[in-house]
Amino acid sequence: MSKILAITNQKGGVGKTTTSVNLAASLAATQRPVLLIDLDPQGNATVGCGVDKQQLDNTVFEVLTDQADISEVILPLNTHLHLLPANGDLSAVDLYLMDEIGREGKLLRCLAPIKDQYEYILIDCPPALGMLTINALAAADAVMIPVQCEYYALEGLAALLETIKKIQKVVNAKLEIDGVLRTMFDPRNSLSNDVSKQLMARFKDKVYRTVIPRNVRLAEAPSHGQPILNYDGKSRGAVAYLALAGELLRRTEQQKNLLALADVPLLTAETD
Ligand code: ATP
Ligand code: MG
Repeated sequence: MSKILAITNQKGGVGKTTTSVNLAASLAATQRPVLLIDLDPQGNATVGCGVDKQQLDNTVFEVLTDQADISEVILPLNTHLHLLPANGDLSAVDLYLMDEIGREGKLLRCLAPIKDQYEYILIDCPPALGMLTINALAAADAVMIPVQCEYYALEGLAALLETIKKIQKVVNAKLEIDGVLRTMFDPRNSLSNDVSKQLMARFKDKVYRTVIPRNVRLAEAPSHGQPILNYDGKSRGAVAYLALAGELLRRTEQQKNLLALADVPLLTAETD
């Protein structure tokens, strides 16, 4: 069964795309089939994977507007990592979906035929709470919220949580918060530590134990069109995203075990 994770925060520049690309590559490195969906008209995840966004005949836009079949648009980047790319065309999607009934469920419907081919599907969301993010939240099992450990980090989180609640109520009851990810963390900066404490107080065990450090290699990798694992696998950024993948896999495993336990009939101490 696949797990669909929306990586979202309407605040810009907090590390959504860096996390989407590098977590997807790290999960794929464990030989699991992973699909990365670029759902941002900026197309940064597409470029970060080394794909020329200007040269694409079809993207997620054509999929969402019924002009192309999803399985023909997905690009295999390697054996385990596939990409559903995006470019600027996607900014027109609102207009196209205007007349569609159940438009917030469009992405979910498009994913139906292919989603079981993947163990993880990661969706890189744009920095806005518009129709694209709503489609991502409607399709997702869980949300990962990257938070930059700097000024005004918590600003806007209340609006995001409100949106998640509304989606849970109206379109996707199973949606949960997978976790809050601290990004661009600098332990020498007291503000980073303050923000981290505030997040722990507010979100408790929903804060991932893995922290993504500020690391220049992570900032350089996209201009080489490579995930950090390929660009500099020994960098602190690469190690952090591998650790995040490990944390995610362990959690999913634990949840599965708990579910399996729930199926086992209760044993009683009485035997004869
Ligand atoms: P947007 O809201 O525009 O989509 P985003 O939330 O996707 O932005 P990114 O594009 O991932 O954010 O990151 C913003 C900038 O910060 C980029 O230039 C990226 O290379 C850089 N960056 C992200 N994470 C790190 C990190 N851990 N260390 C250093 N630089 C980082
Ligand atoms: Mg981005």
